[in-house]
Amino acid sequence: MSPDARNAWFRTLGQLALVLVAGLGIGLLIGQPWPALTVAALGVVAWHYWKLRHVLLRLTARQRLQPPQGVGVWNELDRLLFRSQSEMRARKRRLLSMLRAYRAAAAALPDAVVVVERNNQRVLWFNEAATPLLGLHFPQHQDASIVTTLQPLPMASWLAAGRNAEPMTDVASPVNPDLRLNLRLIPYSDELWLLVARDVTRTMRLEHMRRDFVANVSHELRTPLTVVHGYLEMLDPADNPDWAPMLAEMQRQSQRMTQLVEDLLTLSRLEARETLPEEHVAMAPMLSTLRREAEALSQGKHRITVGDEAGVDLWGSNKELHSAFSNLVANAVRYTPAGGEIAVRFAVDAGGGATLSVRDSGYGIPAAHLPRITERFYRVSTSRSRESGGTGLGLAIVKHVLGLHGARLEIASEVGKGSTFACRFNPDRVHARESHPIAATSP
Ligand code: ADP
Repeated sequence: MSPDARNAWFRTLGQLALVLVAGLGIGLLIGQPWPALTVAALGVVAWHYWKLRHVLLRLTARQRLQPPQGVGVWNELDRLLFRSQSEMRARKRRLLSMLRAYRAAAAALPDAVVVVERNNQRVLWFNEAATPLLGLHFPQHQDASIVTTLQPLPMASWLAAGRNAEPMTDVASPVNPDLRLNLRLIPYSDELWLLVARDVTRTMRLEHMRRDFVANVSHELRTPLTVVHGYLEMLDPADNPDWAPMLAEMQRQSQRMTQLVEDLLTLSRLEARETLPEEHVAMAPMLSTLRREAEALSQGKHRITVGDEAGVDLWGSNKELHSAFSNLVANAVRYTPAGGEIAVRFAVDAGGGATLSVRDSGYGIPAAHLPRITERFYRVSTSRSRESGGTGLGLAIVKHVLGLHGARLEIASEVGKGSTFACRFNPDRVHARESHPIAATSP
């Protein structure tokens, strides 16, 4: 108890004692001590009840309390109530101003922010940017279904994926097809989800310009390179034996440039595509082709094995998958010293998917390089890569092709022991093969 409250308490006890003593004194004077004491006690009780009623009335009226004056336990109670009411009001004001500041910040964001109720998929709140980007208007779309409001975006299936929903990238805005958006779903509580839409029109335009520029430059370089290459081929080193080493180097470099241009064109073509043809990719002939290519590149310097254990085929693009797989096989041959081993294996996974893996016993890749190895022109050892005739674009092409097939590239490698590049396909890319699997091995 605070000193003030203790003082008020003792003062009230003193008053009570005073009233009772006064009552008893008057009673003794008139010769009726007990009835007089009872009347005094009843008076005290009545006064306290009256004060209690007063407090209750003021609390139920929810009116603002006045700062109390006076002493005594009831005034002390009034003072405490007044203090807690003032504190509560100050806290409420602080919270309200914080809430307003948050709302103002969210409203001013250039990204569209929509709070969605998870269970009934209704719009609870949205900021100003949601109007130009997603076409949400206040108050029509407050409480509206997000699925119907944002048609034709596939919101139903996206929301159904919940926490596993992958961000939607580069999709057209439902109100303006010229606007390109990136959408993200952030489940920030059990009941409420945040949908964030970002305008990426400018970024996408720049990306298209970059892609077109690379494609155009590569295309323009193709013809002069073919001409230079053609004339170099026509020059006979026997005419001038001194020039022979120079001619050979020029031919090698023009060959490399031609390959570079071809790879750049392949990458641009892949980047411009959103989907690929859904063809039946027969894996038995694909594996035989890979083996032939590996043997041609290796020229008998490696032990090459090809295992077809899956007994299934894939859905996808024959041409692009072949280009990806043969890039991996070519790398395995190029980055494995003579006498090494190269194993290509196609097998089904436990989950129903399928994996094509290319394992070699070559130089291996230090772990620090693995995260960046699929970037264009990223090389572990520039000199070794140049010697091997690589362009630095092979793995970037592989990654793109696999991405278009919804597959992923897994790389495991140990320096000095070798590397394994595994292309993992989801079950929806796999389908049964009519003929029986063959196990093909070359000596
Ligand atoms: P490149 O045309 O230079 O081979 P890639 O994109 O195919 O370009 O590969 C990038 C780099 O990854 C290569 O320069 C090489 O250092 C490394 N690499 C790729 N495959 C292997 C492999 N099987 N063994 C060791 N290193 C590899």
